[in-house]
Amino acid sequence: MKIIFLGAPGAGKGTQSEIVSAQYGIPAISTGAIIREAIAKGTEMGLAAKVFTENGELVPDDVVIGIIKERLSEDDCKNGFILDGFPRTVTQAEALDAMGVDIDLVISIEVADKDIVKRMSGRRVCANCGASYHIVYKPSAKKTKCEKCGKRLSIRSDDKPEVVLERLSVYHERTEPLKDFYKNKGKCVEVQGQEILDDTTALVRQQLEKAFGK
Ligand code: AMP
Repeated sequence: MKIIFLGAPGAGKGTQSEIVSAQYGIPAISTGAIIREAIAKGTEMGLAAKVFTENGELVPDDVVIGIIKERLSEDDCKNGFILDGFPRTVTQAEALDAMGVDIDLVISIEVADKDIVKRMSGRRVCANCGASYHIVYKPSAKKTKCEKCGKRLSIRSDDKPEVVLERLSVYHERTEPLKDFYKNKGKCVEVQGQEILDDTTALVRQQLEKAFGK
């Protein structure tokens, strides 16, 4: 099962990836999370990526393609994987093809821009373990602390309103064309992101059952 989640920042790709990962026992791979970890550790790649992510821009294709190549070569990807936040450009999608990765299903989660801006203001993350919450739609059981590791939750630096607007414009210009890229291959389905998380999960599950029969 090789699955891609497409969608604007804050559409719910990460949350749905984690749910599908737990359900089918395949890893959810988020390039954004890998990049944030590298920035926190101060690695060479992290330092090079920092300025792009802080401004809501995309990290250069060659860097992200390198990250994915390395990650997909790991053992746990043998039975499949879920990509969350990759590919984000046609060049990245073509690089996946060139690696011989045959994607089975692309699920694009559709949420209107005005709702994205509202959602992003409520997003909270754990800088320690990467878990993601929302103060209304997906609150932590430990309120202002992470329910997984107990560390204090914070707002992602690129979730500030002005950066969110830039990320949305980058999404429409550079990532949205991927819907047609995968529709032309007969692999892309759209799911309307719902206000209630479980409702979106149910729609995603319907598509997975249709595609994989389980
Ligand atoms: P995300 O957590 O997916 O919203 O990603 C956070 C940030 O990491 C993005 O705004 C980009 O700066 C960078 N990033 C993540 N994935 C990619 C990608 N596939 N291509 C380029 N930049 C990326």
